[in-house]
Amino acid sequence: MPRVALVTGGSRGIGAAISVALKDAGYTVAATYAGNDEAAAKFTESTGIKTYKWNVADYDDSKAGLEKVEADLGPIDVVVANAGIPRDAPFHKMTPQQWHEVIDTNLTGVFNTVHPVWPGMRERKFGRIIVISSINGQKGQFAQVNYAATKAGDLGIIKSLAQEGARAGITANAICPGYIATDMVMAVPEKVRESIIAQIPTGRLGEPEEIARCVVFLASDDAAFINGSTITANGGQFFRKMRTRRVRICFSVTRRCYLYRSRRATCRCTGSNRSGMRCNTRCMRTALCRTFILLSG
Ligand code: NDP
Repeated sequence: MPRVALVTGGSRGIGAAISVALKDAGYTVAATYAGNDEAAAKFTESTGIKTYKWNVADYDDSKAGLEKVEADLGPIDVVVANAGIPRDAPFHKMTPQQWHEVIDTNLTGVFNTVHPVWPGMRERKFGRIIVISSINGQKGQFAQVNYAATKAGDLGIIKSLAQEGARAGITANAICPGYIATDMVMAVPEKVRESIIAQIPTGRLGEPEEIARCVVFLASDDAAFINGSTITANGGQFFRKMRTRRVRICFSVTRRCYLYRSRRATCRCTGSNRSGMRCNTRCMRTALCRTFILLSG
């Protein structure tokens, strides 16, 4: 009998790649989604993978959904807790609603997905829990206090579950993807995306399939001794500090200073600081230079 794998948020993005890779590896797969019926129907049509709709943030909804999957396909052996959302805002502007939406989906959602199937896995003495965390749970990220908290929380969940499940043949591991080319990342303005790519030593975004292959390995019997671990798949981004490089272009004809990304500077072309270089970003005071500070590639 093929093993049964459940992938939350498995109809789009990274989750869709995971669902397909698990199917290709011989699992019977159930993919869940929250509300995008059209994408889910398209996904089922093109892959033959069954999709189920429920909100991972709701425990009763999740429990009922998981029971339905087990009634249809058999006991769930592999859980991939992948569903996740961002609601970004700088901390001083973050609303309690933005905080709670992300906590409820990304963190409580993992509890709601794993808890109902845990007793069955213990009884059958086999289980694989794989949580899709994030690079931003490892390093933090501006405007993502809520998101980073949940993704760091995922790592605490798997390390604890690893200890509780080990004797019952259950492993729990996390994957921390860097920036992956999915709708979530492609929705970011192109300029911002370019600055993100400039920080990735590999020089590109990751592909969803690259994360999916990590999942297939962690789900396999070959990974039985890997428990409570984190696979970091980010193109080396974590290991590189962002550097800045200044490119100076002096336009002596202009009488304005456009100073980007710096609070003070001196015009090295003229050796002058007549531009009142204590100016703030986008200073429009009298000056002889334009100073551009670019992120280095
Ligand atoms: P997408 O936005 O492309 O897809 C998200 C999936 O999750 C969709 O299927 C969506 O359903 C589902 N989902 C969202 N909220 C809920 C909910 N409350 N209940 C059930 N399902 C829900 O996301 P990605 O593929 O980009 O990301 C997948 C995971 O990987 C997330 O946990 C994300 O945090 C993490 N990650 C992503 C990175 C990236 O660069 N993309 C980087 C690091 C981590 P529906 O289609 O109905 O909306």
